[in-house]
Amino acid sequence: MSRPPTRNIPLAPATLDWQGNVPLSRQYGDIYFSSRDGLAESRHVFLHHNELPQRWRDAALRHFVIAETGFGTGLNFLAAVEAWLANAGGEAHLHYVSVEKHPLSPRDLALALGARPELSSLVPELLRQYPPPVRGVHRLQLYGGRVSLSLYLMDIAEALEELDIRADAWFLDGFAPAKNPDMWDAQVLTRVGALTAAGGSFATFTAAGPVRRSLQAAGFEVNKAEGFAGKREMLHGRMGRADNAAPAVSALFKPWFGYSALPEPRPRTALVVGAGLAGAFTARALARRGWRVTVLEQAAAPARGASGNAAAVIYGKFSTHDAVDYRFYQQAYLHALRCYAALGLGDAWSACGVLQLAVAEADRLRQAELAAAWPAQVMRLLSAVEAGVLAGVQLDRGGLFFPDAGWVDPARVCAHLLNHPAIELKTGCAVAALNYQIADGRAGEWRLYDQAGHVLGAAPAVILANAAGAAGFAQTDYLPLSRVRGQVSYVTATAASAALNCVLSFDGYITPALQGCHSLGATFDRGNDEMELAVADHLRNLENLEQAAPALRRALAVADAAALPGRVSFRTYAGALPVVGPAPEAAFYLKEYAGLAKGQLRKAYPKAACHPGLYLNLAHGARGVTTTPLAAEMIAAYIEGEPQPVPESLRQALHPGRFLIRQLKKNKLQITDDYRDVSGGIEPGTAIGSTEDTLKIRG
Ligand code: SAM
Repeated sequence: MSRPPTRNIPLAPATLDWQGNVPLSRQYGDIYFSSRDGLAESRHVFLHHNELPQRWRDAALRHFVIAETGFGTGLNFLAAVEAWLANAGGEAHLHYVSVEKHPLSPRDLALALGARPELSSLVPELLRQYPPPVRGVHRLQLYGGRVSLSLYLMDIAEALEELDIRADAWFLDGFAPAKNPDMWDAQVLTRVGALTAAGGSFATFTAAGPVRRSLQAAGFEVNKAEGFAGKREMLHGRMGRADNAAPAVSALFKPWFGYSALPEPRPRTALVVGAGLAGAFTARALARRGWRVTVLEQAAAPARGASGNAAAVIYGKFSTHDAVDYRFYQQAYLHALRCYAALGLGDAWSACGVLQLAVAEADRLRQAELAAAWPAQVMRLLSAVEAGVLAGVQLDRGGLFFPDAGWVDPARVCAHLLNHPAIELKTGCAVAALNYQIADGRAGEWRLYDQAGHVLGAAPAVILANAAGAAGFAQTDYLPLSRVRGQVSYVTATAASAALNCVLSFDGYITPALQGCHSLGATFDRGNDEMELAVADHLRNLENLEQAAPALRRALAVADAAALPGRVSFRTYAGALPVVGPAPEAAFYLKEYAGLAKGQLRKAYPKAACHPGLYLNLAHGARGVTTTPLAAEMIAAYIEGEPQPVPESLRQALHPGRFLIRQLKKNKLQITDDYRDVSGGIEPGTAIGSTEDTLKIRG
C-alpha cells in the first residue's frame, strides 16, 4: 500500500559556495551578509534601525521579542544577543524567533561565525544546541537562560501561520527580493504587520518599492535611511496602528482553543499540584522566570507515581505521516534531548542511545522508510551485525538506532528540578478541591483545600500536574483521563548482560545495567488497577525480550520469576496527546459553542473563556520523560504571555478544550441541571448520550 506523501522529509539544507569568509547560497545566488563586514552590517541595519539597544535599557522591561525572516548563519542572532547581554537587565528575557527553510550545517555555521572573534564566546553554545535539519519548531535555551531561540525550520508562509506572537522588532532579512520573492510577498508582509506589537518596529537592508508599499499596507510607518557600506538606501519603521487592530490570529486559529493572559496586577506566585515530572518541570520553568512556586504533593516524596521507575527511556514517536501527534512527539523528543543534556544531571541521565529492534518483517520496512526521511543525526538503520557491535551483545536482528536518546532516572530528575531557591516542595498534601476568589480591588486568587476543608495554599496561578487526579476537581471533571497499568521487572545483570551498552526497545525495552540491574519493561494493561506485582507480568516482560533478543534473554539468569523485584505504576492517558494549556470554563463552552452540537460549524464564535490562572499539564502516558520538558515550557509561556515553544497547530492540538468541543460536535455532552442556566442553545437533557464516550458535565 502506498503511503500519502510525507512532509517529514529532511529539509533541503543550504548549499554554499564561499567568497573568503562570506557564504553564498547556491539555491538563491546571493550572499548571506555584506562582504565588507557582516557584523557591522547587522548592527547598522537591524540593531541601530530598530533602535536597539536603546529600547532595552528600560529597567521595567521583562521580555522582548525579535522575529527574523531568514536565520541563515545566525549572525544577526548573535549580534542581537551580544547587545542584549550587554544592555538589558539581568532579569529580562530575549525571545528570538527566526524562520529558516534551508538550514546551514553546523560546520558551515561554525565557518561563517568563526571569522568573528567578537562572537567567539557565544558561538560554542549555539553550536551545541543547534538542531538537526528537521522540519518544525526548535526551542533553544541559551546564555544562562537569558535568551530563547525559537527556530521555525519551514517555509516562511507556513511559519507565519504557525506563529502567534507580538514581535517588538522584526529583522526582515531574506535574500534580495529579486532573487528570493517569496520572502517579500505582500501576504507575507501583511502577516508580519499583524504579528507586530503596538509600537513594534522593523528594519531591512532593502529599499525595493514593492517591499516598501507592502510594509505600508501592513500598517507600518516606513522610513528610508542610508544603507550599509555604500548601499544607497534601506527601510525601517514602526507599526503605525496604535492598537495594531489587524487580524493577528492565524488562519489556523479556532476560537475554542483561545486563551487569555493572567489578570494583572498579581504577585508572581504559583501552586503546582503534583511533584512528578510534569509538576517538577513546570515548577522549574516558572522559577527560572522569577516566580515563587509551591509544589503540593500528596505522597511522601516526589516522583512516586508514573515518574518513579528506576529508569525511564526517552523515546521519539516517529512516522512518515505528517500527523499532528507525531509532530508533537518528534519536537518534544528533540527538545527533551537538549534539555536533559543541559540540566547537569550527572549519572541520572545517560545518552547511551536507543536501538529499536526490527522484530517483525513489517518493522524492517517501516524503519527503512523512517531512516530515509530523517537525518542520520536523529536516526540510522543498522544491520544485525552492526547492531550487535554497537549494543555490545549478540543480536540477530538489526534496527533503527537513535544515537542521542537514552534513559533518565526520573526521581533524581524531579529532585534536581525541585532543588531551586524559588521552589518549595510540600509533601503529604492531598488537594481535594480548589476555588477561585476575587477579593475587593485585587486580582483573584485560587485557594486549594484538603479533604477537611483546610487551605493548603493560595496563588493567582495554579497548575494541575497530578495525572488522573485532576479529574477529581469540579473545574476539570469532564477530562476523559484513563489509567493504564505498567509493570517493570528489575533483573540482576550477569557478566554477559552487563555488556549491553545502549537501551534496546521492542515490544518493551531493556536498559543497560544500572547499579547491577536491568530495567525490563513494561506491560500495558488498561482497566487493571492491581497495585501488587504480578508474576505473569514479569513473565511477559521476559517473553518480549526472548522474542526480540534471545541471546540476551539467555544471558540473564532468572531462576524464579516470582522472586523478581519490580514496580507497578499507572500512566494517565487522554487519547493520543497530553493535555497542556489553560483550563476551559466548561459552562462557557456549553453556552457559547452550543451551535456546534447543531452542526453550525461556520458560525462566528467568541474566543474561549478559561478559568483565570488555572492550567493543566497532564496525561503524558508512558512518554512523560520525553514530553514534560516541552509541555512545561508551554505552560510557562501561557502564564508569562511569551511566544509559545510550539507552533500554533500543536498548541491547539494539546489544548484542554478539545474534549468539550469534540463531544459537542458529536452532540454527546450530557447536560445536567447544574448547567440549566448556561447551556444556552441546548435544552438540558436533550443531548444526553448513553454511550461510553459521553462526557458527563456537572457544575
Ligand atoms: N539573517 C541571516 C544571517 O544572519 O546570517 C542571513 C539570512 S540570508 C540573507 C536569507 C535566508 O532566508 C537564507 O538563510 C535562506 O535560506 C532563507 N530563506 C529564503 N527563502 C525562504 C523561505 N521561503 N522560507 C524560509 N526561509 C527562507
